[in-house]
Amino acid sequence: MIYLDNNATTRVADEVLVIMEPYYREWFGNAHSVHGLGRKSHDGVEDARRSVAALMGAEASETIFTSCGTEGNAMVIRGLLESGAQRRKVVATSVEHPSVLALLRALEKNAQIDLAIAPVTPAGAIDLDAIRALVDDETLLVCVMQAQNETGVVHDVAAVADIAHRAGALVHVDSVQAAGKIPVSMRDLGADFLTISGHKFHAPKGVGALAIRKGLKVAPLWYGGGQELGMRSGTEPVPSIVGLGVAAEMAQKAVREFDRVAALRDRLEEALLGAPQHSISINGASQRRLANTSSISFHDRSSDAIVRALDAEGIYVSAGAACHSGKVEPSATMKAMGKPANQAIGTVRFSLSRYTSGEEIDRTIEIVRAIAENRPAVPTG
Ligand code: PLP
Repeated sequence: MIYLDNNATTRVADEVLVIMEPYYREWFGNAHSVHGLGRKSHDGVEDARRSVAALMGAEASETIFTSCGTEGNAMVIRGLLESGAQRRKVVATSVEHPSVLALLRALEKNAQIDLAIAPVTPAGAIDLDAIRALVDDETLLVCVMQAQNETGVVHDVAAVADIAHRAGALVHVDSVQAAGKIPVSMRDLGADFLTISGHKFHAPKGVGALAIRKGLKVAPLWYGGGQELGMRSGTEPVPSIVGLGVAAEMAQKAVREFDRVAALRDRLEEALLGAPQHSISINGASQRRLANTSSISFHDRSSDAIVRALDAEGIYVSAGAACHSGKVEPSATMKAMGKPANQAIGTVRFSLSRYTSGEEIDRTIEIVRAIAENRPAVPTG
């Protein structure tokens, strides 16, 4: 198996599993119980909070554990609306993740917000002039992702935050794809809220975090025992949180390894661009991108067919287009970038991790070229 779908999810690191196991078998106490077993869990949660806060460039007292990126994004958007804020306008970029965009569209439909979508350039960059034109003194919140999940394009979040703050608006940054790949810092980005998700950086699925800048308040999505600063009632999943803490420490150090990952990604792209038998384009190539992400459009081809053919060879990637009732639809991101349909429907995302090897990339190049040129792949070994 060659796993190149790390923007979808990642393998849990062995070091993370090792740390988690005793919290299932021996130290299974409720983190809020006063006895020894409870205190052991509590200490595990608080150590993890410090590590996760460090990854987010936030204080531990500003950091809340969630179940995933989707939940963190909803906590900010819904929580702000229910916190008594007067302003009702939300500005978001056209390439935000559906956990932001679909929620905002639903709220707009229910007349709970006024929604303004800021376009991106054909290269996937945020159009700062468009943000400037849309953000006004009615704007409650500006939602901007640090790195785009399909293309890996890294956005100028600090510039967006500056525009928002000048208008008195708050800034929510979705750093789900950025965390562990590039430095993330709530402070340096000028974010008021920032979300991450563990399963994108080798922690287990079902655990993430939200940082809320000191002094800000959002209403909780639900009520109960008042865990997590009253923001997220419910017994904490201690093993997952402890695992998230270790994964966060590893991820912060691993950012350095992404130079090696970038070289592998570039090798893949150069080899495919250099093959004259097929025509491809690389999305967002002119922009600063996450080192691990390559979004490649195979012109006049169906991404679905390429993904299936790669799957048959044990290479796992994602399609940037979806097949609905026999019709291939480009992804919302490709549409937002104005990608021509014959290119958008052939878009495939290769996403590497710090565990990806040179041999895996070489084998991938060989197989992709064979598939793109419609010739049989040479079996390995
Ligand atoms: N935001 C971005 C940019 C993502 O890529 C994802 C997941 O792909 C999410 C949010 C949602 O995260 P989760 O799957 O943890 O809910």
